[in-house]
Amino acid sequence: MSTTILALLDDPTYQPKHPPVDGRVPAAVARWATASQLRWFRRYRHHLAHGQDLAHLHTESPHHTDWCCAPCQAEYEQGRGVMTDGWCCCHDARTGR
Ligand SMILES: [Zn+2]
Ligand SMILES: [Zn+2]
Repeated sequence: MSTTILALLDDPTYQPKHPPVDGRVPAAVARWATASQLRWFRRYRHHLAHGQDLAHLHTESPHHTDWCCAPCQAEYEQGRGVMTDGWCCCHDARTGR
């Protein structure tokens, strides 16, 4: 391995392929498997612009696309709601709704 390549690997500013572009999700992400999409959103969720349509992407749950729903998370913090039954939120496809 050349010293140039080693220097690149050591570079703390190195970005993996397909980082967000102006806070938006690059089109390539939509073609990935669910697990890869989830990994990408774990890495970049705090770097995303608000108000973009993520309805076709797995952002934080393997059981539905888009973000988990905030009211369910609020219920969970109060110790009730579908999340206490093991669903990720009411969008969870396994709930059959
Ligand atoms: Zn969910
Ligand atoms: Zn919900």
